[in-house]
Amino acid sequence: MAKDYYAILGVSKSSSESEIKQAYRKLSKELHPDKHKGDKSKEDKFKEVNEAYEVLSDPKKKQAYDQFGSTDGSSPFGGGGFGGFSGQGFDPSQFNGGDFSDLFESFFGGGGGRRQRTADPRGRDVQAEVVIDFTEAVTGKEQMISMKAQVACSECEGSGNESGSKLVTCSECGGTGAVQRTTNSLFGQIRQSVQCSRCKGTGKIPEKPCRKCDGEGRVLEKKTVSVHIPAGIDDGQTLRIKGEGEAGQRGSASGDLLVRVRVQPDRRFERDGDDIRGTLSLKLIDAVLGADVSVETVHGPVTMTIPAGTQPGQILRIKGKGMPVVNSSRTGDHYVTVDIVVPTKLSREEKRLWEELRKV
Ligand SMILES: [Zn+2]
Ligand SMILES: [Zn+2]
Repeated sequence: MAKDYYAILGVSKSSSESEIKQAYRKLSKELHPDKHKGDKSKEDKFKEVNEAYEVLSDPKKKQAYDQFGSTDGSSPFGGGGFGGFSGQGFDPSQFNGGDFSDLFESFFGGGGGRRQRTADPRGRDVQAEVVIDFTEAVTGKEQMISMKAQVACSECEGSGNESGSKLVTCSECGGTGAVQRTTNSLFGQIRQSVQCSRCKGTGKIPEKPCRKCDGEGRVLEKKTVSVHIPAGIDDGQTLRIKGEGEAGQRGSASGDLLVRVRVQPDRRFERDGDDIRGTLSLKLIDAVLGADVSVETVHGPVTMTIPAGTQPGQILRIKGKGMPVVNSSRTGDHYVTVDIVVPTKLSREEKRLWEELRKV
């Protein structure tokens, strides 16, 4: 047995969990490096106390220690114990709140802290918004979208390797991409499988990292994507363009580009699902006698036959002249609400004819 952890904490083998915790709390406060700046022996003692607590607070390790006098190298800290963080202003009182795993990550994560813990080798989705005219929604269009995003490194073609070098298995995780982490806090044991921070979960690392992208396989650059906006797109709809989002790290899958389409209104037409609604101003005479009139639709002017005796407010349909249905050959209909225009300025001749009509 290298060290007597019980003696270090000043407890006995039969001490309870809470007694061990209490002893640790007291000692770590007393010995805190912030209180004894430059006192090497206090600092060593502080590390020892933490090491002891790290084992004795973990039932499994405690059992192994009681049985074999060591924890059999099962410490997730690789034997170095807590040595790394005593200079970082570690204060047990911090443990009253905050994000534990973040705290631990920043102590043991090898410098990256939060970013490395949540790092995902896949590229993230990128959001964009475009505004198009109402008529462009009818015909569809090709829209160029420019953005600044992570793109595959041109130097290493996204591999992250200096040319001529190759990928090697990550020694940190043995190629699995994940590391098991078991940490103890005053509130008990935290065990989690976390993404390997060295290889970002890919299990491989470049033997020689690419100089342009620093081994990331991607760089932040401006890029332009041509987006096909289909005919019939509606205001507020989002198009997902696969693989056109952020490039992944070292050749990992790219994210998608999500394009939200805003369609500007048109004062002539109102969209109602796949149909279009508008109004038709009809001369009184045409409503009475019937006529062929020109109606403005989203597909251009269309000649429509108005039956004799058409009433104000009547709704007439022109089949197949509404909005195209996205990804199909179907088209909605165009509906017009009839508005009858009563003449107000009559010529002498017109007035005479209306008078004639009255006598009939
Ligand atoms: Zn590169
Ligand atoms: Zn790894």
